[in-house]
Amino acid sequence: MAHPTCQVGGRFSRCHGAAQYDCQYCGRAFCAEHAYFVEGHEAVCSRKSCATKRDDLAQHLEYRRGVERRNNAGLCGIDGCGPHPGFECSLCRGLFCGDHLTERMYPFRMGMATIDRPVSICAACWDRRKIWRAA
Ligand SMILES: [Zn+2]
Ligand SMILES: [Zn+2]
Ligand SMILES: [Zn+2]
Ligand SMILES: [Zn+2]
Repeated sequence: MAHPTCQVGGRFSRCHGAAQYDCQYCGRAFCAEHAYFVEGHEAVCSRKSCATKRDDLAQHLEYRRGVERRNNAGLCGIDGCGPHPGFECSLCRGLFCGDHLTERMYPFRMGMATIDRPVSICAACWDRRKIWRAA
């Protein structure tokens, strides 16, 4: 097998480093210098949209842990809100009160197309869609 070179880097500053990883988001091969996050099975290149996704995911895991903790105590997933959440977010599966869950049309990616589907969604999941829609 030939040694592939790094596919990350500016249009006018092609990187000639030897590719060591494949980005899990954009699929580009990248060198150690263009690594944003590499650990275990994860490999993320330093392109901005990929780095943003990685940060968002870490942040979202933190959010879900908080929601789960509150749900286990019988509270709505939003900090400072009250008991008896009766609605489930279609995306993160957290439980929320009626005030903290909204009915919306959410753009799901289906291959090359984007299809809007109705969902019940918490504010945090709704905010994430911009990051994940951008290819
Ligand atoms: Zn990437
Ligand atoms: Zn590189
Ligand atoms: Zn959610
Ligand atoms: Zn609430």
